[in-house]
Amino acid sequence: MMKKLLLLLFFFSALGATAQQKIGLVIHGGAGTIKKENMTPEQDKEYRQKLQEALTAGYAVLDEGGTSLEAVTTAVQILETSPLFNAGRGAVFTHDGKNELDAAIMDGNTGLAGAVAAVSHIKSPILAAQAVMLHSPHVMLVGEGAEQFAREQGLEMVEPEYFFDQRRFEQLKRVQEREKEQGSLYSPNQPGSYQGKDFHFEDYKFGTVGCVAVDEYGNVAAGTSTGGMTNKRYGRVGDVPIIGAGTYADNETCAVSATGHGEYFIRNVVAYDIAALMKYEDLSLEEAAEKVVMEKLVEKGGSGGVIAIDREGNIAMPFNSEGMFRGYMKEDGEPHVFIYKGE
Ligand code: ASP
Repeated sequence: MMKKLLLLLFFFSALGATAQQKIGLVIHGGAGTIKKENMTPEQDKEYRQKLQEALTAGYAVLDEGGTSLEAVTTAVQILETSPLFNAGRGAVFTHDGKNELDAAIMDGNTGLAGAVAAVSHIKSPILAAQAVMLHSPHVMLVGEGAEQFAREQGLEMVEPEYFFDQRRFEQLKRVQEREKEQGSLYSPNQPGSYQGKDFHFEDYKFGTVGCVAVDEYGNVAAGTSTGGMTNKRYGRVGDVPIIGAGTYADNETCAVSATGHGEYFIRNVVAYDIAALMKYEDLSLEEAAEKVVMEKLVEKGGSGGVIAIDREGNIAMPFNSEGMFRGYMKEDGEPHVFIYKGE
């Protein structure tokens, strides 16, 4: 009897040991022309503090036994509420002076995903994306339909003014002034237009936010939220809410959240490409992410970066732009935050 009991005990503790995986969380707050010389020490500090706040809050969820999905929504919501980033409050403006937000989330365990696009009244687009994933048979809802759904789900709705940020509005005005002087960079029939060498990254400033995480159950998740790109027209939707482009998660490979010039990320199916290289070419997470961001995207002229994590807790944060607001927290429980290349 005693022997049986001991065997059972041994069996359950072994189960527990395999269930307990390394936890880890990575966030980004957008990539672009982020140069040290263009930032005041105060701005630098403010960004780092906010990134650290999001990291520690997301990591605490994992540390307390929460799921990667819970950690992702916690970290992203903190960045959405901050006007420093182009997501939620502080989102960039469309050509018509509005804020139209996109977000997506994916669960690497179930393979389920949810997304919203072009919404203007949902306080937290990442929560709306999660509601689509968990409480609807669909993957992506857009515009008024998405807002009606969010309302029915009891999510917090706001007046569009909630998203207003003076700094972003001035950014739009600058871009539009330049358009007047130089003629529009936008040419609907020319895929390279609005994207070529005349493209001024400083003013279209990215600043999308995202988070990827792995929990103690070995499940990965990814979430991304954005206002898109300054001066966007005609209900433009970027890569963020497109599963496989800006957001992707699969326990078998990795979770990815991207930031950068969305059109390139869509055409090159960036997030899924990283997972596919791991799955079919047997590349490590780091090799796959490097190849896609530093080689494939660069060849095509696409600027930006990604954050990625696998179920072993390996992480990658490559970017081919000047800088990327980013950070990670792993088993040592210390937040590591970076803005520029190497620091
Ligand atoms: N990828 C986003 C978009 O194109 C922009 C960004 O990452 O800042 O909508």
